[in-house]
Amino acid sequence: MIERDLIEQIRSLSSADAPALVQGIGDDCAVIEKSGNRVWLLTMDTLVESIHFDCNFHPPELLGRKAVAVNVSDIAAMGGKPTFALLSLGLPEGFNEEWTRWLSLGISKACEQYGCLLIGGDTVCNPSGVSLTLTVIGEMERGRVLYRKNGQVGDTVWVSGQPGRSAAGLALLQSGIRLEKNTDSSLRPLLKAHLDPMPRTALAIDLAASGLVHAMQDISDGLATDLSHLCHQSGLGACIIADYLPPCEGLKKAGILLNQDPMDWMIKGGEDYELLFTAPPDATKTLQLIGRDSGQPLSAVGSLIEAKSVVLVEKGCGTTVSDEGTDISFQGYEHFQVG
Ligand code: ADP
Ligand code: MG
Repeated sequence: MIERDLIEQIRSLSSADAPALVQGIGDDCAVIEKSGNRVWLLTMDTLVESIHFDCNFHPPELLGRKAVAVNVSDIAAMGGKPTFALLSLGLPEGFNEEWTRWLSLGISKACEQYGCLLIGGDTVCNPSGVSLTLTVIGEMERGRVLYRKNGQVGDTVWVSGQPGRSAAGLALLQSGIRLEKNTDSSLRPLLKAHLDPMPRTALAIDLAASGLVHAMQDISDGLATDLSHLCHQSGLGACIIADYLPPCEGLKKAGILLNQDPMDWMIKGGEDYELLFTAPPDATKTLQLIGRDSGQPLSAVGSLIEAKSVVLVEKGCGTTVSDEGTDISFQGYEHFQVG
């Protein structure tokens, strides 16, 4: 059984009936009534040693920052602002105290940076390695929340930044390249994207405030998989145009160095924590201005179409799925191998 089938099984066996519950399982955050026209946003993400990070090259301070960032990114994915955090920390027997001091420093600095207070958690012994689970709570105006389910046919599909950098960065780190003073300047952003990702909080808040965006989520499991989630929730498909994916010097260079096709990282690579959203085509100019003001390039990479899958094409998109193109539905990161 794969991850999304397991989540669907859990969802189908759970009750989702509570007067204050606005959104349960299925989006980046659960949404709960707060007071007046405000809602709480709640999310939980775990980082597990050997799956999400390698202590041989992940400095503990950056790991602590990343544990906060990946959760803050889910709050951003709804358009909200983080407010509180809870931390569950699993450590092996005889853990290194200097290492955990740096980890704690990273967590506390990131909480301060994103404006969320660490208000509780749990600490346990985990014989199989380090694990970090955070719950982050955010809040926002109820009418501005951006869900995955509201994409509409003909919407333009947008991505922030340059998807693929984190996966390329991880591949470089695994090949022995490190983030050091003399590291090639075009490769540094790739290594940083994996070790110290930056959720797009300010941009997300601006996008929600614009009222122009129909559906949004963040990219944690790769463009192909996360767009498939958005499409599935919206009851649509999507067409992505390969040539419209934002080019990046570093990705090209890493591709040559490691003999890999950068397109694979852009389409399938996880952990970018960029924003993926859809909006009507007539919002294009305003969205470009919002991107420019927030310092994040935004790229229009395709369209939502009347279909059941996400396809990658070379040139333009039609309004329905055509025979051309490659089906890339759910081609990103998967926790459980099929077979
Ligand atoms: P994301 O990649 O944005 O963190 P996930 O793919 O992890 O989202 O989860 C998708 C949805 O399923 C979310 O709403 C999440 O809260 C929910 N979910 C994931 N795992 C579980 C679980 N074990 N129990 C209940 N809900 C879960
Ligand atoms: Mg998410």
